[in-house]
Amino acid sequence: MNAVPESTDAREVIVIGSGPAGYTAALYTARASLKPLVFEGAVTAGGALMTTTEVENFPGFANGIQGPDLMDAMRAQAERFGAELIADDIVSVDLTGPIKTVTDTTATVHRARAVIVATGSGYRKLGLPDEEELSGRGVPWCATCDGFFFRDHDIIVVGGGDTALEEATFLTRFARSVTVVHRRSTLRASKAVQDRAFADDEISFAFDSEIAQIKQADGKLAGVVLRDTFTGATRELAATGLVIAIGHDPRTELFKGQLELDAQGYLKVDAPSTRTNLPGVFTAGDVVDHTYRQAITAAGTGCAAALDAERYLAALN
Ligand code: FAD
Repeated sequence: MNAVPESTDAREVIVIGSGPAGYTAALYTARASLKPLVFEGAVTAGGALMTTTEVENFPGFANGIQGPDLMDAMRAQAERFGAELIADDIVSVDLTGPIKTVTDTTATVHRARAVIVATGSGYRKLGLPDEEELSGRGVPWCATCDGFFFRDHDIIVVGGGDTALEEATFLTRFARSVTVVHRRSTLRASKAVQDRAFADDEISFAFDSEIAQIKQADGKLAGVVLRDTFTGATRELAATGLVIAIGHDPRTELFKGQLELDAQGYLKVDAPSTRTNLPGVFTAGDVVDHTYRQAITAAGTGCAAALDAERYLAALN
């Protein structure tokens, strides 16, 4: 039988994830001389901002910064202080004992006394061709972040929950027109949010409709084909912005059965700390955050998780 490859001694801290939360946790733990080992993910190192262009709301960049440039800078800053980075996924974990183990895709087992989980969340997708390709080019994943770029555009918002209607209401500040497309005839959003959206003359609704096709011209979004969910009839709707607000899925699959999750599958923490239900396991960023989901808030909680881990380790010694 082949022996399972195992890294040598237990480290102080392992960070899983390389978005703003993971890199910030890596920076802080590295500066505290804890020599963090960071799993960045196999194909998605750098996290969600690698898929966008201009980031205008991360403090410190008066003229904005490209998402990948911001993440490269965060990575370099963590490395400068000694963070060790591995561009691989963690595929299983045992976080229960005083020494935690995480296993990568080569079946190597890594051990640490503390783990910071910063695996982020994924935006739910429509699953249509062109959706990925137009990401950041007419298809933003965060209207709060990108609304400003849609001044005088015709925008479609897909979804019927609070997020969709809040994004639609927000976008009327910039857009020429906003159309909410929803698969059903009634919305899921709370009454107050619905009332506000219905009272807004600049929002129109396409109920009982789904996006059958995304159309592009010259590499940019040109519109969509809507399909009536009852009759199947289709019609085209021109648009230069398509906001898909049908929810998020936190990346918590790995931790089920060990870390406590809330009803929506996000990790639970002992707020305002970043402590999970297991001693020595901390979490930060969008994997725990239903509400804000911004790069700066992810970085902020990444810092908090590093400080919590540092104090936990100090108390063990
Ligand atoms: P993420 O950035 O999602 O990073 C999670 C990381 O975990 C990834 O690197 C992934 O590879 C890694 N990972 C997951 N599972 C594993 C595993 N099993 N093993 C190893 N690694 C794993 N916010 C703003 O503030 N301003 C903006 O302008 C802005 N624009 C955006 C544009 C787009 C297109 C998108 C999608 C988001 C945007 N956001 C913006 C939101 C912002 O990107 C997120 O809030 C932020 O990235 C969350 O950081 P995070 O570190 O929690 O997670």
